[in-house]
Amino acid sequence: MLMTSLSKEITGYMCAFCGESIDSRGLDITALVLITNWDGPEDRQQSQQFFAHFECLAKSFRPEVSRELDHLQEEQND
Ligand SMILES: [Zn+2]
Repeated sequence: MLMTSLSKEITGYMCAFCGESIDSRGLDITALVLITNWDGPEDRQQSQQFFAHFECLAKSFRPEVSRELDHLQEEQND
């Protein structure tokens, strides 16, 4: 979700979870890609990107799902 000023210039990215702006540093800006009808034919699928802080995304997932994000954090620290 892009945050725009009144003049429609892109001024930043809004986190889909906390609503705060996202600074582009570290793992942020994290894009979450939503694809509908995933197991259906590609011409019936729609996709949209949302943006979030990595930490907000990780906190919003259930713990067992969030653990699958651990390797991304490790790669960032290398
Ligand atoms: Zn956030």
